[in-house]
Amino acid sequence: MDIKNMYIDGKWVLGSGGRTRKIINPATEEVISIVTEGNVDDIKLAIVAAHRAFYEDGWIESKARYRSELLLRLASKLEEASEEFAILETLNNGKPINESRFDVIDAVNQFRYYAGLATKPHGQVYDVPDDVQAMVVIEAIGVVALITPWNYPLVMATQKIAAAIAAGCTVVVKPASVTPLTVIKLFELIDQLDFPNGVINLVLGPGATIGNEISVNPLVDKISFTGGTETGIEIAQKAAHTMKRLSLELGGKSPLVVFEDADFDVAVEYALFAVFANQGQVCSAGSRLIVQESLYERFVAELLLQVKKIKIGPGIEEDTLMGPLVSENQLKNVLGYVDIGSNEGATLLCGGKQIEGKGYFIEPAIFTDTTPDMRIVQEEIFGPILVIQKFSTEEEAIRLANGTKFGLAAGVFTNDSAKGMRVIRKIRAGITWINTYHNTYNEAPWGGFKMSGIGRDLGTYGFQQFLEPKQINIKLNVTPAGWLSQ
Ligand code: NAD
Repeated sequence: MDIKNMYIDGKWVLGSGGRTRKIINPATEEVISIVTEGNVDDIKLAIVAAHRAFYEDGWIESKARYRSELLLRLASKLEEASEEFAILETLNNGKPINESRFDVIDAVNQFRYYAGLATKPHGQVYDVPDDVQAMVVIEAIGVVALITPWNYPLVMATQKIAAAIAAGCTVVVKPASVTPLTVIKLFELIDQLDFPNGVINLVLGPGATIGNEISVNPLVDKISFTGGTETGIEIAQKAAHTMKRLSLELGGKSPLVVFEDADFDVAVEYALFAVFANQGQVCSAGSRLIVQESLYERFVAELLLQVKKIKIGPGIEEDTLMGPLVSENQLKNVLGYVDIGSNEGATLLCGGKQIEGKGYFIEPAIFTDTTPDMRIVQEEIFGPILVIQKFSTEEEAIRLANGTKFGLAAGVFTNDSAKGMRVIRKIRAGITWINTYHNTYNEAPWGGFKMSGIGRDLGTYGFQQFLEPKQINIKLNVTPAGWLSQ
């Protein structure tokens, strides 16, 4: 099997330490690829290349239209190869093929969206009391490191690459170690375009060493990170010493609130989709279902009936709704939480067992009889485990919904539109839905309140994360300040 390389300063290179990693298909446990692994020397080289490309080789002066054209060409190439990318994503991550197809098209649209945004008017002019023309221009932040997780390997990288390149930054991408394949393939497309050397780099390898170097290296101007909250805290602490700009898209424990007046069947289906899509490995998963007492028995009974319809199997099979978890490690974590929940006294209504045979498959699990202080209610599990909470009044629903340290996403189901709006406005979360869940748009800002992160990806907000505003004040009549003669 050929070893897949990293891409540094316009060249495909092996990690200097000679280490490799086997990449596993989580549905079969077979090795599907071998990739090189970088070390601290390699990430330093990539950062130096990105720094040189930006500050010395002229990317800092690059024109928006040129960057936009590169992104549009990349979008077309990705679109042409979309089915190959979707299959590879499913083989590496395990997710159902239809979700992978959706992700690839999302990635294509991210490149097109930011290609468009690059050339649109930016900046401001403003009126001041003096004889001065005052304005704000926006400038690229510089060298940015993009660190991404394994649950959406392609789109998490492309949403950051697209915005950063559109803004005029140079980038170093560090994908999650277990799922690098679609990002490597993306770089094969990038390599066919006319990006100057050093503008886009790819470094593979473990987060602990490579991520640490990114966090402390003074040549990195900004880190855009998506991953766990604990990792985000570590990065923020280390990056503070060089005052790096930070965007942190972190974990969640998002509530889905169902009122008694909700459309019953719609709410049941969304409650399952919200938590079990992508095997629950979604930062915005609706992993806490908060149901009104009067509806509770009927709703839970129906969930139990419907959950059995979820077809579990290899993601590559067209009718699969839930694939395997991404890795053995993740399977162990999730099974560990099934034990924790049972030991805490919650009732395991269904599922939570590993499925025998090859692959990291687990049955979707539902816990009832929970209390707000339980670990399964408070902590992000990042797997197919739903915990159910009960409320009687609107105030109690809001209190429960806000009752964790996270604030990423939330959903409310009700046919009273005023109530839906009232409740969603009181839930402290960055991504919210009324009578739907999981709809994600490249045009809208993605990110969380509280411990779910800082800053936003996507949309115009995501673009600004890669820019610094600079004010310029121009005296219209060049006259003395009058300071010495007052
Ligand atoms: P993780 O934090 O373990 O890893 C994320 C990335 O950080 C990987 O590339 C990893 O190699 C790297 N990394 C690990 N240790 C590092 C360190 N010390 N310094 C710098 N980088 C380091 O997360 P994961 O397990 O890959 O992904 C799951 C987590 O990601 C979940 O918590 C999930 O909620 C979160 N997530 C958040 C969003 C969002 O938009 N808010 C989206 C997807 C996933």
